[in-house]
Amino acid sequence: MSTAVVVGSGPNGLAAAVFLAREGVEVTVLEAADTIGGGTRTSELTPGLLHDHCSATHPMAVGSPFLSGLDLGRHGLTWRLPEVDCVHPLDSGAAGVLHRSVEETAEGLGGADGRRWRTLFRPLADGYDALAEDLMRPLLHVPRHPLRLAGFGPRALLPAAAVARRWRSEPARALFAGVAAHAFRPFGRPASAAVGLTIIAAGHRYGWPVAEGGSRAISDALAARLGEFGGRVETGIRVRSRADLPPADLVLFDVAPRAVADILGDLLPGRVARAYRRYRHGPAAFKVDFAVQDGVPWTYEAARRAGTVHLGGPYEEVAATERAVHAGRMPERPFVLVGQQYLADPGRSKGDVHPLWTYAHVPHGYDGDATEAIVAQIERFAPGFRERVLDMAVRSPGGFEEYNPNYVGGDIIAGANTAFQLVLRPRAALDPYWTGVPGMYVCSAATPPGAGAHGMCGANAAASALRRLRR
Ligand SMILES: Cc1cc2nc3c(=O)[nH]c(=O)nc-3n(C[C@H](O)[C@H](O)[C@H](O)COP(=O)(O)OP(=O)(O)OC[C@H]3O[C@@H](n4cnc5c(N)ncnc54)[C@H](O)[C@@H]3O)c2cc1C
Repeated sequence: MSTAVVVGSGPNGLAAAVFLAREGVEVTVLEAADTIGGGTRTSELTPGLLHDHCSATHPMAVGSPFLSGLDLGRHGLTWRLPEVDCVHPLDSGAAGVLHRSVEETAEGLGGADGRRWRTLFRPLADGYDALAEDLMRPLLHVPRHPLRLAGFGPRALLPAAAVARRWRSEPARALFAGVAAHAFRPFGRPASAAVGLTIIAAGHRYGWPVAEGGSRAISDALAARLGEFGGRVETGIRVRSRADLPPADLVLFDVAPRAVADILGDLLPGRVARAYRRYRHGPAAFKVDFAVQDGVPWTYEAARRAGTVHLGGPYEEVAATERAVHAGRMPERPFVLVGQQYLADPGRSKGDVHPLWTYAHVPHGYDGDATEAIVAQIERFAPGFRERVLDMAVRSPGGFEEYNPNYVGGDIIAGANTAFQLVLRPRAALDPYWTGVPGMYVCSAATPPGAGAHGMCGANAAASALRRLRR
């Protein structure tokens, strides 16, 4: 029987482990932390309330070609949809509102902007499943759906600023800006539209669901599936060097490229080691989880029903904050993402006290305190919020890296979304998962298709590892 060790139990490590175990490989997962799950952990960061430590909304996990075939519902994974997916409020009192339905979103935007939203996103949403089969793999492959990809690719390679020019009204432009900002990339850069277009298309196909009981339900379900196939997970074991690796036919690293270079040392071919050490990380997140009495008193009514609220004002302001954090400057009013998962999953609250998930985009390695800037952005669109805060838990960029070494400098998306790294991550190679050392692979979000709790980096890496093993 072949054996495999997976280093790290994030959604990609667990997906890789399940993939291999299902194929009859004896798999052991080694996890540094005391709990499994990496970016999909949930716990009582404030007493009695369930807070997602990292990932919150999961359009791409529901649509993941690998996860969706695992019947994780049998192991307690239940998706819950908020009434409204996302609201981007503006100082004028208007807002951009994203619904699962393209039609409803377009109607809300109204007029020519609504028509343009429909023209762009209707075909992308209708063809999302086919598109995902190509987008969720390394980009250097023979496409399964070349026409769909040909419709999407040229737009994805555009700067977000170029795509945003289709819309004239502030709500439509801001709505797109808020989702495009998930890429942590200045809007003028090539391919900075790719992440926003993908998330909106996935959202129009699947909505922006949260996992009942918290995102940990994703990793718990994966671990349970792994157990069914005879695999196991050991926690509290940090792999620092080759000496820490038990003998195995395959080793898959759910870790950052530089950490792979450190662990494998001179075993790694020189050109691969250099590429892993050159791998670029992007801006960071500063996160505050609040316990809020009676929820947030948003001025814009639909925001009180929205799973996600994007705070950053009009397009130009969001664009400026993304440029600033990229250049290493902390903006006075950073872009802030707010998650109200409890609206779709009330079991996370305690009576009328609700968990509020927020983070701001800040420069890489930022060592200041962004708590007040986050509170001020919420107050801007929800006066009176401050008085409702009963408790909070704060995680700075340094805190993120301590919590999970994959978040280098607080970069929560496992590498800058430069045009090069969007296509060729973690290095330019036909098989981006292989380290160049026989039997050793990278399977973290630093590999294609990149960040998100969709498990596809892990599944792709495992498929590559098995192909070579069985040659
Ligand atoms: C604040 C925040 C918000 C996010 N929001 C979303 C969202 O809404 N939706 C979404 O889809 N995604 C979101 N993400 C991103 C998502 O969580 C990640 O892309 C995803 O978890 C990456 O999975 P992974 O398996 O590659 O790595 P990770 O989840 O980072 O897991 C890596 C694991 O490896 C372990 N490890 C690292 N080094 C070692 C070592 N040397 N030895 C042993 N173990 C090691 C770590 O402890 C960790 O458990 C968010 C992330 C953060 C931080």
